[in-house]
Amino acid sequence: MSAPTLFERIVAREIPSTIVYEDADYIAIRDIAPKAPVHLLVIPKVVSARIDEITGEAEMGRLMLTAVKVARSQLSDYRLVVNVGKGGGQEVFHTHVHVLGGWEEGSPVGFGA
Ligand code: AMP
Repeated sequence: MSAPTLFERIVAREIPSTIVYEDADYIAIRDIAPKAPVHLLVIPKVVSARIDEITGEAEMGRLMLTAVKVARSQLSDYRLVVNVGKGGGQEVFHTHVHVLGGWEEGSPVGFGA
């Protein structure tokens, strides 16, 4: 058995985090190093290393629906980001969707925020 991922350890409460949403299949936490005034991570409890390992329509759909639900609970406008693979900026190899928002009016600029 491989070692639990960072996010599995967060789900298990072995590593502290600020949990903003949880149900049987997903958890959402505040990112420890926020790249926006509001920066959340929506994480499926069933582990896949990267989002393109998810092949089921229902599983993919539920992940995005959960991300939108979490985003809408805190933000009216927001950005959803998924980094896929090292070359795509992914650092934690347990699929997650970033929810970013809360910028002042006029921000963010392009995709750099
Ligand atoms: P990614 O680069 O897409 O894999 O994103 C991983 C994210 O996890 C980064 O934005 C990190 O800041 C965030 N992160 C790393 N460790 C923790 C932690 N212990 N609690 C919350 N977020 C974390």
